[in-house]
Amino acid sequence: EHADTPLVVEGLRKEYADGFVAVSRVDFTVRRGQVVGLLGPNGAGKTTTLRVLMGLTQPTRGEIRIFGHRLTPGSPVLSRVGALVEGPGFLPHLTGEQNLRAYWKATGRPWADARFEEALEIAGLGDSVHRRTRKYSHGMRQRLAIAQAMLGLPELLVLDEPTDGLDPPQIAEMRRVLQRYATDGRAVLVSSHLLAEVEQTCTHAVVVNKGTIVASGPVEEIVGDSPTVQLDVDDP
Ligand code: ATP
Repeated sequence: EHADTPLVVEGLRKEYADGFVAVSRVDFTVRRGQVVGLLGPNGAGKTTTLRVLMGLTQPTRGEIRIFGHRLTPGSPVLSRVGALVEGPGFLPHLTGEQNLRAYWKATGRPWADARFEEALEIAGLGDSVHRRTRKYSHGMRQRLAIAQAMLGLPELLVLDEPTDGLDPPQIAEMRRVLQRYATDGRAVLVSSHLLAEVEQTCTHAVVVNKGTIVASGPVEEIVGDSPTVQLDVDDP
């Protein structure tokens, strides 16, 4: 029954080696067509949760299912997940396109021109893809990083703080990019510590604080008139 669901997280717990419990219990689902915002203050456990989903760290407890496949170390289903952990470094003397090609080559996966073009199209890089990344603004760099995560058109795209440091017009643009990506049966999960950003860019929100979920649902229900949510996710 879950084979068509991009992501099901059940009872996720992550305790670091020093005994610190970064995620105590997290459950949520990401469905096709959704742009889900994982929202919470710094230290809430967002990055830890995303790293588990990307297969970068092992959960202490809980089950992650990606298109019905249980996530285990080196699981082949990870090839259906595109990830952006933090702003990747780009080679400044190469163009955006050259950087993306070099990155893809390093993954060892077969190149597909059509997918590449579509990813660039959705990311909205335009002609700047032919410029050296040395000349990129922060916003363009961020867009190139997102294009990189989109390269193989993964059905589930997971982005850690993609709107970090962007100005309001760039955030509005990000909404267009993410919501467009989530068509054609794909889905997006993004983290953010800003309620307004999630409100602007996502269709659904999962609010985390101190490693547990305090609210989740369609973004208009979360943002509306929930005083507890407002208090919990205020900027530090
Ligand atoms: P941020 O927005 O700052 O990234 P976050 O919500 O993503 O916050 P996490 O990065 O998941 O939060 O961190 C949650 C908690 O886990 C933090 O208090 C952090 O110090 C702690 N933590 C993260 N990595 C480790 C680690 N390797 N060992 C021990 N504690 C860790």
